[in-house]
Amino acid sequence: MLRVIAIDGPAASGKSSTAGLVAQQLGWAHLDSGALYRALTLAAVDTLGEGGRRKGEEWPAQRILDLADRLPVRLVLVGAKFRPEVAGADVEEAIRTERVTRYVSVVAAIPEIRTWVNTQQRKAVEGGGGGGGGGRGVVVDGRDIGTVVFPEAPLKIFLTATPDERARRRLSQRGQAVDVELVRRESEALAARDAADSNRRIAPLKPAPDAVLLDTTALTLEEQVMHVVELARQRFPG
Ligand code: C5P
Repeated sequence: MLRVIAIDGPAASGKSSTAGLVAQQLGWAHLDSGALYRALTLAAVDTLGEGGRRKGEEWPAQRILDLADRLPVRLVLVGAKFRPEVAGADVEEAIRTERVTRYVSVVAAIPEIRTWVNTQQRKAVEGGGGGGGGGRGVVVDGRDIGTVVFPEAPLKIFLTATPDERARRRLSQRGQAVDVELVRRESEALAARDAADSNRRIAPLKPAPDAVLLDTTALTLEEQVMHVVELARQRFPG
């Protein structure tokens, strides 16, 4: 049995925080697939420049993939977390900047980029213990993990929360004041990214038919983690 828990959901729904804590409690590894899309986007923007894609032009998929192999862009298992690396440097912080967030959904909509990322994820899971045979599994979070990347995952969760609640969480995570105007602007930015991710042709953001839907608007992080851990203990006995 594949030892993977798939956690999908819209931007800032708490997927990565939940996935990280669930993995910790189960003694599993954590893979944030968005980090790999972000690391590729960072490499593209840094190397090709924001003008690597002129107005109205597509990002050049093959050049980005060549960069990914050459630099390389990869996920490295450090302790129990797969960390994104570009040219040997940890980019966990650099991939969270506005400059990367602005372009990531466009880069992630390119079919060849998705194929590359999916291959890296499957390899990482095989190497990280999720391939079966007992022991440590991998909690993977993203947008299409339950639908496309690991449709055979025995436990799939789809996390949601209202856009305003997600905006508030994102702002407080960044240590910014949570005032009405900032929440409105952040909520609009999240909605735009969700629309891009939900309306793309390939692997759009949506729950797998057998996913457990979890609305976290009124839950604390501890409560949502506990809920997923309970489900995991039922689906992965022993
Ligand atoms: O999860 P995070 O917000 O960091 O993901 C950044 C972007 O990467 C998403 O907005 C989406 O465009 C893309 N992504 C994706 N499929 C995934 C994970 C992330 O398309 N499985």
